[in-house]
Amino acid sequence: MPLNFDRLSSGDFFISNGAGFHSIVGAESFEKLVRLDESCVDKDVSDSLRRKLFLTSQSDLQVSLASLASAQSKRLLEGLRFNPTFMIVPTLRCDHSCNYCQVSRASLKAHEYDLAPSKIPQIMALVKKLGQPPYKIEIQGGEPLVRFDLVKDVYAKAVEALGEDYFEMIITTSLSLIDEAVLNWAKPRKVGFSTSLDGSEVVHNKNRILPGNNSHALVVRGVEAINNVLGPGRVATVTTVTKALLKDPESLVRAHLELGLNEMFVRPISPYGFANKRGEAGYSFEEYMDFYDRLLSILVERNREGHPLLEHSGAIHLKRVFNPGFNSYADLKSPSGFLLDCVMFNYDGQIFGSDEARMLQRVLGNVDFSCGSLENFDAESNPLYTKVLTDSMNSIHPGCEQCAYQPFCGTDPCQSISEQGEPIGDKSISTFCNYHKSMFRYLVDRYYSDHDARELLETWHHG
Ligand code: SF4
Ligand code: SF4
Repeated sequence: MPLNFDRLSSGDFFISNGAGFHSIVGAESFEKLVRLDESCVDKDVSDSLRRKLFLTSQSDLQVSLASLASAQSKRLLEGLRFNPTFMIVPTLRCDHSCNYCQVSRASLKAHEYDLAPSKIPQIMALVKKLGQPPYKIEIQGGEPLVRFDLVKDVYAKAVEALGEDYFEMIITTSLSLIDEAVLNWAKPRKVGFSTSLDGSEVVHNKNRILPGNNSHALVVRGVEAINNVLGPGRVATVTTVTKALLKDPESLVRAHLELGLNEMFVRPISPYGFANKRGEAGYSFEEYMDFYDRLLSILVERNREGHPLLEHSGAIHLKRVFNPGFNSYADLKSPSGFLLDCVMFNYDGQIFGSDEARMLQRVLGNVDFSCGSLENFDAESNPLYTKVLTDSMNSIHPGCEQCAYQPFCGTDPCQSISEQGEPIGDKSISTFCNYHKSMFRYLVDRYYSDHDARELLETWHHG
């Protein structure tokens, strides 16, 4: 049966197929397998390979092929499901000026970067029309709390349009402006916060510039206040790894544990931001993976000491490999999550199929990356949307079709447009490919070769 493979550091082979199954086979068995000689494949191994549709007999060939096609179609249909998170940008203004800012924020004093309150009922009408309960609403920026009045208004209009029990809201914020009023408002509501925590005070403040103030001190104060007033589980962190953090993964773990956080989300600098263009990312994927390796070793050690921590990037990669039905992370799926998993309402009434499309619009102003406006939402009328969506299945991408990680990987057409000018791109020079292949390879290898790491990683992909 058709399969793709990769050789692990142990010399064993990782094999996968379009049904989303994988298996590890020894070099000798693998050789027999590709020569279609199953005589020397161990019986237990061959039974498992049959169940996972890697092996079949001549008499079962048609049934096995039909099963493979059916499993593949099921995954494809699931991936095509339109189940977006609705992102809303109340303002592009921000008090920070981070080195790696993705959205080219506007200054606090700027004009015409705020959402008009009159547009909020229109947004909610579209959310209701396009989505289904439970609706997922994410408030983005700029810094949304610069216009807390609009955030409250969005919530109130969502209650009117969708019903209080039928949506949840996440506010993406640096927490620099969180105060008693915000906390008291959030307390009885289904509102959570997502914030950035880039490591120790020195590392965090090196990248997250807050003129005249200390960004790290404010995020620490904000997380503590949320934990104290709202209780646990109401704030999540995202860490963007910069060169300054590479040397010291321990400081990142400490920063989380000191705040009572047992989950983290670690990722390299995005190629959408401006840091890379200024050459400030300053590290290679090899260096990033070396950092991640040391980070995981620290997490394994903490786990052994009874302090388990979950790292979400690793967990998402593992869930994709170990759970063929896991398809709910917009940035790692095929077809891509563009539009299918995201509808973004910008402050000016324009609508985009992803946050990245909004960023591309600001950088490449001569191309229309929008799928219409509040007055006229119409993705079909923009040929770019049809092209991006039809080109976003990695099973037919050159380079991916033979990759062992293809069934678990995804595509990021906007990243490819940003780097290479078109949505598919040459995978050998793609940042997306480089990062995800490195992560899949590393995690699978460590999972199958390191008993202690496996104990922790199992909790990640089961969670
Ligand atoms: S806080 Fe967010 S929006 Fe503001 S400058 Fe930093 S990355 Fe950009
Ligand atoms: S993008 Fe890279 S890692 Fe992902 S499926 Fe394609 S070749 Fe494999």
